[in-house]
Amino acid sequence: MRIQVLGGFGGESLQCRMTCLLINGKIALDAGSLSQVLSIEQQVDVHTILLSHSHMDHVNSLPFFIENVYGKSEKAIDIHASAATVYSIRKYLFNNATWPDFTRLPNHLLPAMLFHEMESEVPLVIDGVTFTPIPVDHLIPTHGFLIEQNGSAVIWSSDTGPTSRLWEIANRTPNLRAICIDTSFDNALQPIADVSYHLTPQTLETELRKLQKKVPVLLHHLKPPCVGRIQEEVRKLRNPDLEFLEQGKEYSF
Ligand SMILES: [Zn+2]
Ligand SMILES: [Zn+2]
Repeated sequence: MRIQVLGGFGGESLQCRMTCLLINGKIALDAGSLSQVLSIEQQVDVHTILLSHSHMDHVNSLPFFIENVYGKSEKAIDIHASAATVYSIRKYLFNNATWPDFTRLPNHLLPAMLFHEMESEVPLVIDGVTFTPIPVDHLIPTHGFLIEQNGSAVIWSSDTGPTSRLWEIANRTPNLRAICIDTSFDNALQPIADVSYHLTPQTLETELRKLQKKVPVLLHHLKPPCVGRIQEEVRKLRNPDLEFLEQGKEYSF
């Protein structure tokens, strides 16, 4: 499978775009930067979006993406998310006050977007790619995903503090090629990381003790003001399996 990193950060600045992956050019995982990175034609190719949770750095481009593809896509854009995420997005984003309700435009029978509620650990197969939502530990209900195609598997989790199920699934997945995980704040901001349920290099190091296999661990969702300090602290861990997920790069697994 091809995984293109459109946005690899937990916030926005000149160099940092918000969390968003594009899988095989057609399926988006989170929607932090679809409209900022892709041409309109490339956006029209995206027919499905899976969301980890409803925070702004993960859904930011959704309103503008929907507007850009409106009337150009053959059918409604499918949006898969947990019941809690669907509720929040309907109530706070596509509520006609913040942005029009595109589940009723142009009309409710043929809408521009359709929400589908996903369940923890119930796999979804989309275009031959299997996505299994894994519950993680964040401020609000949030999922990481086990992504599988043609015998290779990747685990991608964005926002989470110390967690357990993700590592259990990583340990039991035989053909796991990589794990992508949150490293939002530097160690000095540990109290903020703790109350907001994110990881720092030091809590990441503790988390990695739960991983019983050797695979590349790709770090992402760095908060833009913390990037330099996080990179320095991760270097000091001297763990050869740790890399940073590279924004703009296309990975093949
Ligand atoms: Zn986030
Ligand atoms: Zn979040």
